[in-house]
Amino acid sequence: MGMHLYIHGGQVIDGTGAAPFAASVLVRDDKIMALGQEADQQVMHLDQVKRIDASGLTVMPGLIDSHCHLSFDDASSNLEIFHQRRNALSVLVASYNAKKVLRAGVTSILDPDSVFANSLDLRDAINAGYVEGPRMVCGAYALITGVGGTAGHLIADEGVTGYYRVVQGDDEIIKEVRRQIKEGVDWIKVHVSGVVPHYAHLGERCSWSQKELDLVCEVAHDMGVPVMGHCRGAEAVKRAAKADFDMLFHATGMDEEAIQMVIDKRIPVCPSLTFQANIADFGTQIGTSQALIDLFKNEIQESVEPMKRLIAAGIPLICGSESGFTAVPYGDWHHREMEVFVNHFGMTPLQAIRSATADNAFAMKMSGELGLIKPGCYADILCIEGDPSQQISLLGETRLIQHVIKNGQSLDLSPLPAHKRLSGWHIPSMGQRISKNAVMPAFN
Ligand SMILES: [Zn+2]
Repeated sequence: MGMHLYIHGGQVIDGTGAAPFAASVLVRDDKIMALGQEADQQVMHLDQVKRIDASGLTVMPGLIDSHCHLSFDDASSNLEIFHQRRNALSVLVASYNAKKVLRAGVTSILDPDSVFANSLDLRDAINAGYVEGPRMVCGAYALITGVGGTAGHLIADEGVTGYYRVVQGDDEIIKEVRRQIKEGVDWIKVHVSGVVPHYAHLGERCSWSQKELDLVCEVAHDMGVPVMGHCRGAEAVKRAAKADFDMLFHATGMDEEAIQMVIDKRIPVCPSLTFQANIADFGTQIGTSQALIDLFKNEIQESVEPMKRLIAAGIPLICGSESGFTAVPYGDWHHREMEVFVNHFGMTPLQAIRSATADNAFAMKMSGELGLIKPGCYADILCIEGDPSQQISLLGETRLIQHVIKNGQSLDLSPLPAHKRLSGWHIPSMGQRISKNAVMPAFN
């Protein structure tokens, strides 16, 4: 017979972008079985049914966060992630953070890269039911060339540093892509652009040749595995598009030609501007320098026209928060990218919700099966007070979330037990520079 769950009396946002409508939802095992009158009729013939009264609630697909680094543990810097982490401990800590993510109504994540590539282990433990957490797909080590990713001299000239693996030359590219596929990655992640310390004034630059990027795609696609790229700057976007990348992160700084290539190849883009938006809006409260605040504000402003062009051309914007850093801690900001889409890119709240649900199913490699309230789809469902189609920021109000259902199972949302700080895990800051002129002016 299976296990049945009947959610009645709520307003459904189905994830397609359609306006909310009154309907009940009938779930059988891990799938949505029927909707509306169908559901009401079928439930009459069932004896063992769990019921949720959703009167006054919005019933919608569980959120998908397509950019969440579960192994970083709200790090304050790359230094911490690269050199202060231990493999088993970081995956145990990640399993705690995974529960924070669920409590924010996020039932699925794409974790693009992780320390020790250990998100693969967490994914398998969650999907097998050993550990509670969101449905996960992941990459392993992000591939970079010897010239560096986003962290300059912190990255060794070869091998693995943190969540990166340096690949030098065709042989190492082929070997690493195949090794990752053997280990079970869902995606190959490439850092197509990066800052080179001495040339930092030039911003992020494309650090791969066209031939090298073509090779990554050739080897990965040959095994049916998609490739995603961190791309800042027009050249990185163009080369990644030309190489047939399947998804782009950031894609800021595009010129006309880059925009056109993304549109022609219909490549989904995940701008991931939550980090920038948080620093822009709250930086003064946490002591960020005005220069950095302005830089991030500028990156958002620069993205407005290109992203509007992609939206107008029907290119899906993938919604991801880049949670895992002190500026974007787990559980707090998974809804924030939707606010950026609404406030800066002119989406309606319903379009932003579609981005974080039905469109994001692409990042989960489950398009049409996830992120929709529709018969036959996986039953990942969020019941929340109020109407997010009127006010997108409601989705960030965890206290309004009444039920989170993953794979047809209603989860226990009671608060997580508090934990202490791990010793040697975070890098303590010594604070600001103590200028003698400032603190002891009388002696000068
Ligand atoms: Zn990232």
